Amino acid sequence: MSALQINSYAAGRWVPPGSGARPIASAITGEVIAEAGGVPETAAMLSYARDVGGPALRAMTFHDRARMLKALAMYLSERKDPLYDLSFNTGATQKDHLIDIDGGIGASFVFASKGRREMPDAHVYLDGPVEQLSRNSTFLGRHIAVPKQGVAVHINAFNFPVWGMLEKLAPTLLAGMPAIVKPASNSCYVTELCVRMIIESGVLPGGALQLICGSTGDLLDRLDGQDVVSFTGSADTALMLKSTPAILSGAVPFIAEQDSLNAAILGPDAAPGTPEFDLFIKEATAEITTKAGQKCTAMRRLIVPDAAPVIEALSARLKATRIGDPRDRETRMGALISSAQRADVLEKSAIIGTEAERVFEGDHPDGAGAFLAPILFHCTDPDTATEIHRTEAFGPVSTIMEYRDPAHAAELANRGEGSLVASLFTHDTDTARQIVLQSASHHGRIYINNRDSADEATGHGSPLPHMVHGGPGRAGGGEEQGGIRGVMHYMQRTAIQGSPDMLTAVGGPWVPGSREFKTGEHPFRRPFDALEIGETIHTDAREVTLKDIEHFARFTGDTFYGHMDEEAAAANPFFPGRVAHGYLLLSFAAGLFVDPDPGPVLANTGLDSLRFLQPVSPGDSIKVRLTVKQKTKRNDEYGEVRWHVTLTNQDDAVCAEYELLTMNAY
Ligand code: NAP
Repeated sequence: MSALQINSYAAGRWVPPGSGARPIASAITGEVIAEAGGVPETAAMLSYARDVGGPALRAMTFHDRARMLKALAMYLSERKDPLYDLSFNTGATQKDHLIDIDGGIGASFVFASKGRREMPDAHVYLDGPVEQLSRNSTFLGRHIAVPKQGVAVHINAFNFPVWGMLEKLAPTLLAGMPAIVKPASNSCYVTELCVRMIIESGVLPGGALQLICGSTGDLLDRLDGQDVVSFTGSADTALMLKSTPAILSGAVPFIAEQDSLNAAILGPDAAPGTPEFDLFIKEATAEITTKAGQKCTAMRRLIVPDAAPVIEALSARLKATRIGDPRDRETRMGALISSAQRADVLEKSAIIGTEAERVFEGDHPDGAGAFLAPILFHCTDPDTATEIHRTEAFGPVSTIMEYRDPAHAAELANRGEGSLVASLFTHDTDTARQIVLQSASHHGRIYINNRDSADEATGHGSPLPHMVHGGPGRAGGGEEQGGIRGVMHYMQRTAIQGSPDMLTAVGGPWVPGSREFKTGEHPFRRPFDALEIGETIHTDAREVTLKDIEHFARFTGDTFYGHMDEEAAAANPFFPGRVAHGYLLLSFAAGLFVDPDPGPVLANTGLDSLRFLQPVSPGDSIKVRLTVKQKTKRNDEYGEVRWHVTLTNQDDAVCAEYELLTMNAY
């Protein structure tokens, strides 16, 4: 078979490997299967991204981009088989593909859905509430976020050629930034196929995605403060790249996800025979063998109360793990990415071996492939040892160590000096709380599993698009994913200060104090498209009588003393005497502002941010101001209208304030 020529995708065209091309070997056979390399025209790539891709993406709203992501994820979902077929060459098994290929597509679906649900159908993202900056509210503040106007450069590690790209690409595109992706050379042929599919789909605008299979050349030297680098790989490479003068002088955000000596703690209550002990052994086996241990989140240090039963149970499971050609259905663990990686893992294992005893080593398969059987170490003096806490053997290697008490377990976990994830297998809530409080500062994620969560827990090693992935210290100090938090890396947060009208004009939703107006028609009679932000009605007033309060109390059964017992109510610090029920006021408010006949308002779907600010006594009268605050399209038939509702009394004091949600037909 002739070697695949792996192209870059630069400035809208596929560019074959140039003179600097290097061979890429199959992890299973050692044969050269592909060639990639060369230096692309970085200036052209940057201007294609900045001048073509960025403007096209920024012209779309968050919802447009979320829909685009969903279409992309659906397109890829229908084309997984060719990706699986090619990816076997990286040494990955079918189960590994589920993490890489299905996991990457899944992350895109999650960002597509979060973009629709948690971001506005607009160009500006509001970050937090309006801040009161002046006594009379004529000068207010608010934080907004808009897409950066540069390019996101994604430099990825070899172990997840598809997930590694998509988990960063989804939040980047949702934010409205174009990306240049540089996968690791060893597995770039899988990423290239995925990028081909994405480009062929026609779902993304031109310039939104480019690919470098080979060297980045002078790309990083050309970046500025509107660009972002998101790096995944080793700490050494991260340090070298973030020291690029242009990155330092231009204050280019550099998100680093690097190596991590992740810990798994077996709780003191989780003795052999408990469900937690079995779970620990099951998950540790999976962590050591999945992707042949080449997982940034893999359990590298197993911190247990008693080493002997763990060594026995884990060794038995690892011994039974079948290692071999990942295409074989019986295979449970495939190969490392390359023979160089195997040599590196063996070298790092030798360093760990200077402080720990090798207590298990599987049978290493013969052949030219980069196979390596699992290796377990036991360190009897983890307090004085240093290498076991800092040497990452990026393969199927783990070290077992004992702790004295939960505080000691947390201390050992923290010796990794910053990790992506630590896990805890316990059924004891006190132990969990103590360890989390003592070690959360050192870990990006803490995964707690036990008999109650086991059936649905997603696994120690699985970063989820909903949750933050990253960690402090040696893990790189970066964060990715975590829902909309992950999108914010590709946006600029800006504090906007000005009058209420200015904040409404910039942000979108109506800000109290800004212009309100009437049309000749009740807003409930106006279809979704016709309604305008700021459109307001002021209702007539209605008196609230003691009879109303008693009727409501008997009708609903809410005879709370504050409404029914004058003396007891007056003794309460909040009430002058008997007062109207808050829910009675909401009901009266609806009675004042609704237009009853069938029309564009289809349903009341909720109410947000309700505050009762001042009690209403019998004899008081109330009136309502109802203003269109925000409109969000939901589908082809209807959209959501968010109304600002203010209920005031005869003295114009605000008694209640809230946001009402309705679905309105177009
Ligand atoms: P690596 O050797 O550091 O390479 C990472 C990426 O940097 C690759 O794409 C590599 O491209 C690129 N690179 C290297 N030198 C470069 C340069 N001078 N300019 C531009 N790009 C350059 O790491 P790896 O071997 O691929 O991955 C293994 C490491 O990644 C492990 O240490 C693991 O812990 C870590 N990792 C961390 C995470 C996480 O989320 N924290 C996830 C996965 C892996 P080439 O391949 O072309 O050199």
